[in-house]
Amino acid sequence: MNQKKQKNTTSISEIGEFKLIDKLSKIVEGKNKNIVKGIGDDAAVLEAENHYQIISTDMLVEGVHFDLAYTPLLHLGYKSISVNVSDLCAMNGFAKQALVSIAVSNRFTVEAIEEIYKGISLACNDYKIEIIGGDTTSSKTGLVISVTVLGVCQKEKITFRSGANVNDLVVLTGDVGGAYLGLQLLKREKEIFLENPSVQPDLEGNNYVLERQLRPKAPVKYIDILNDLNISPTSMIDVSDSLASECLHIAKSSNVCLHIYEEKIPIDYTVMNLAQDFKINPIFCAINGGEDYELLFTIKQKDYDKLKKDIDFTIIGHVVDKSEGNHFIAKDNTAHKLTAQGWDSFKD
Ligand code: ADP
Ligand code: MG
Repeated sequence: MNQKKQKNTTSISEIGEFKLIDKLSKIVEGKNKNIVKGIGDDAAVLEAENHYQIISTDMLVEGVHFDLAYTPLLHLGYKSISVNVSDLCAMNGFAKQALVSIAVSNRFTVEAIEEIYKGISLACNDYKIEIIGGDTTSSKTGLVISVTVLGVCQKEKITFRSGANVNDLVVLTGDVGGAYLGLQLLKREKEIFLENPSVQPDLEGNNYVLERQLRPKAPVKYIDILNDLNISPTSMIDVSDSLASECLHIAKSSNVCLHIYEEKIPIDYTVMNLAQDFKINPIFCAINGGEDYELLFTIKQKDYDKLKKDIDFTIIGHVVDKSEGNHFIAKDNTAHKLTAQGWDSFKD
């Protein structure tokens, strides 16, 4: 096929992933009344008898999402489930079953694929879900793992990206920036190894960021905590791309704007230290890095007291009127336009 750009055609990188999805969704717009939510949130939401069925799918592609030079297959299997379960958490629901499809080349042994499935099985045990099917096919190039996860959500608990209101508080679970730094560390050690294969990788003392990158956990525990605290977020999304990009998703879907504060963004001390080694500003990793699989959500101010004592949650900002713009407020009190420089697989 001629790879050169044709007249009247648009390259995908020109518009980016999110505009591409917008265009595709217009072609296939669903109208069935059983569809409570189709394209546009972390999961689709369907009417079921006395609850909602929630469904999401996510794909991991070799060379785009993972590099087998430093990705253990066991962890890859685990991660393929985590990233999907995370999307159902973002709806305030629970995963129950999953379908796993793989495309593999002859380069892989049976034992290698079994190793991926051992990781999948560990994740299924942790999240109490079952694999109910999938598809297996050959690939001429890299390995692809595509997972579809099915789950349930109580009708009164369902949380969309679109429910944030002016004056709501913006909350983030856990901490961010670790997965991005884990990736930088793995890439650096790979480069060193390629230059001099006798040098062993120096990954000592960096377990936290490596685990964040290679074997992330879906944020299921926070859904339980929110339930226990009797808090219903007004909007929610999981942090798969970048904190900045997820803030913009909530803002756009809710027709509001968000202000988030540098001094409030939770960053683990190991991330702080390692960022300094890399001479990267830790806040850059925190807001523009991706794959932290935390939850970003908004709550009504009246719920603040219920949540303030729990160290799992950090208030990082608040919701403002759309006319005010999305802003990142730095420690020196200067406001910067929040842009989605976050991870986009169509950019180089
Ligand atoms: P997430 O980062 O939470 O996985 P995405 O940005 O991948 O979300 O997707 C956003 C929305 O667009 C979801 O509702 C998803 O189902 C939908 N979507 C993504 N890609 C496609 C596609 N190729 N065709 C139809 N819908 C899509
Ligand atoms: Mg998501």
